[in-house]
Amino acid sequence: MATKTFRYFCYVCGYENEISPNIPKAPAMEKHQIECKQCKDQTHILVTSCPHCDKGVKYFLSDLDFPEEVQHLSKAYVLLIKGIKDSLAGYIEEFDVPLPERWSVQLDCSCGEKYTAEIPLPHSLE
Ligand SMILES: [Zn+2]
Ligand SMILES: [Zn+2]
Repeated sequence: MATKTFRYFCYVCGYENEISPNIPKAPAMEKHQIECKQCKDQTHILVTSCPHCDKGVKYFLSDLDFPEEVQHLSKAYVLLIKGIKDSLAGYIEEFDVPLPERWSVQLDCSCGEKYTAEIPLPHSLE
């Protein structure tokens, strides 16, 4: 896993922050919470890097806890499938629907590599 330093301008106050997150190679992604040194605004970033050239760092900024949002979405999907399952109870004994296990994004690197980065999703209902 590489650590790279890069600059990010706070979108609230414009302060230039320097951050050095751990950056895994795709398809792994790592989530970091960062805080503006000046205004203390907190934001989340997801980082990953090109598996081919090790230079193409990609990051996604979000003022929301992004993976949590994705987890909410996937939970809604899991609930929907459970609803279908329940409505079929009594008709068939077993009903298996494959659930998506991860949320993925397609990325392009300047080296020409196309690759996928993935965020694991929750597998079941709590
Ligand atoms: Zn700020
Ligand atoms: Zn690359």
